[in-house]
Amino acid sequence: MRRILIFDTTLRDGEKSPGTILTLTEKVRIAKQLARLNVDILEAGFPAASAEQYQAVERIARELQGPVVAALARATNPKDFEVAWEALKHASRPRIHTFVPASRHYREHFLKKDLEQTRELAVAAVKMARRHTDDVEFSLVDSFRANPDEVIQLVRAVLAAGAATINLADTVGYATPVEVSGLFQKLRKEIATFDQAVFSIHCHNDLSLAVANSLAAILEGANQVHCTVNGIGERAGNAAMEELVMAIATHSSQMDAQTAIRLDQIYPSSTLLRRLTGISLAPHKPIVGTNAFVFETAVPQLSDREEKPPYEIMDPEKLGIRATGDELTAGAPLQLFRARIAELGYDLQPQEMDECYRAFRDLAAKKETIFDADLELLVNETAFKSQMRYKLLYLNVSAGSISVPNATVQLEVDGQIEQDAGFGHGPVDATFKTIFKMVKRSPRLLRYEVNAVTSGTDALGEVTVRLAENGQQVNGRGIDTDIVLASARALINGLNKLEYSSKQAAVSEFTDEESFMPRL
Ligand code: MN
Repeated sequence: MRRILIFDTTLRDGEKSPGTILTLTEKVRIAKQLARLNVDILEAGFPAASAEQYQAVERIARELQGPVVAALARATNPKDFEVAWEALKHASRPRIHTFVPASRHYREHFLKKDLEQTRELAVAAVKMARRHTDDVEFSLVDSFRANPDEVIQLVRAVLAAGAATINLADTVGYATPVEVSGLFQKLRKEIATFDQAVFSIHCHNDLSLAVANSLAAILEGANQVHCTVNGIGERAGNAAMEELVMAIATHSSQMDAQTAIRLDQIYPSSTLLRRLTGISLAPHKPIVGTNAFVFETAVPQLSDREEKPPYEIMDPEKLGIRATGDELTAGAPLQLFRARIAELGYDLQPQEMDECYRAFRDLAAKKETIFDADLELLVNETAFKSQMRYKLLYLNVSAGSISVPNATVQLEVDGQIEQDAGFGHGPVDATFKTIFKMVKRSPRLLRYEVNAVTSGTDALGEVTVRLAENGQQVNGRGIDTDIVLASARALINGLNKLEYSSKQAAVSEFTDEESFMPRL
């Protein structure tokens, strides 16, 4: 059976979803989950874009076991290859991914070069990458609006220059399965060495065809597909990993194809992404939406039987839906605690680790089971206290059917303790207004969402807020059994992220504004 390689670009292309600000720790954590999911290639970022992306690629390359780690470099910027390699060099299996525009639209708009010049640029880029590694992936941007004969010319040139993987990108989400089949048939017919290279596709979902187009490419000989968890990405997103993998798994024998993805890690990966990005899913989202496996009991007489119900084409149990993640109990030794903290993506100094372990023991004395969400909160509040500009020290809210809702808030801002109180239309509104007044900033609140993390009346409530300020958007998240407190934590988390992202913008020293930066 043909093995289809899963190239995950959640951390590179997926992170371009509006409002997605992932910290270094969060990226490492997602990378580790993707390794557990067993993706074949993980694109960790674009190191030349910012110091922050550089650090993320560097740490993931150093720490990740299993997948090939890929980093992006622009064909136009020789320095990108040096920076990408510097970040990647500790990976056990590094890959450099570079690209040029294939369509005339893109070539003329971004590159101002004709086909011949573009081909020269592409060949030079492959050679620059090959100085560092044999594992070079070459992408042709906007391939499906390009002249197919020109695509063939570019593919021949980069294969001859030593690219191992050729990726055709439907950058703008324009293609249909028929067009994808046509172009791959042409490649198979006209590229003599088609079988010696890996052909790949990168699809966007603007017409809801990203997965269908990826499948069309596989049926015509592509051995690799690009995708993101939950299909996150700019505009309508990228091809969704879970949909693609389950389409292949469900039709494996007809397609004579399979992936190496561990199906029981699909749901935990989806949940982690949703939580860390704050991008929620439509209930009817295939595979991972909350309604995806809820069936109308149209045939109730069958429900008592042992055999599989006739309407299930997939077995939800196999997707890890029941898995709640690893939990720690009060008796967990330091060694186990340390391993779990590393798994969550944190890299703590011994002293911070000791402090967090003490806080864990205190919490475990009060609470039977410590979930990942509890640990995150604990580490953020213990180890990273000094790095956060805003800290919530105290919140008291009174609300009810008679009183006017009011909130008393104590914050630490730049090390100074401040206290204030205010009224609002409800407890959350009163809290937010008071906090905004205290921090002297008023980002726009674009979204406010409450979800239950665990079940039962003592469930942990998770609040996600999206804030916008000076053209930047961030998602903040807070967890508590009290949803007003969870809301305040989410807002403070968002404010700290706004602070973090404005600093990141200032240190993006690598960015070369003048060179072309097309979407891929
Ligand atoms: Mn893309």
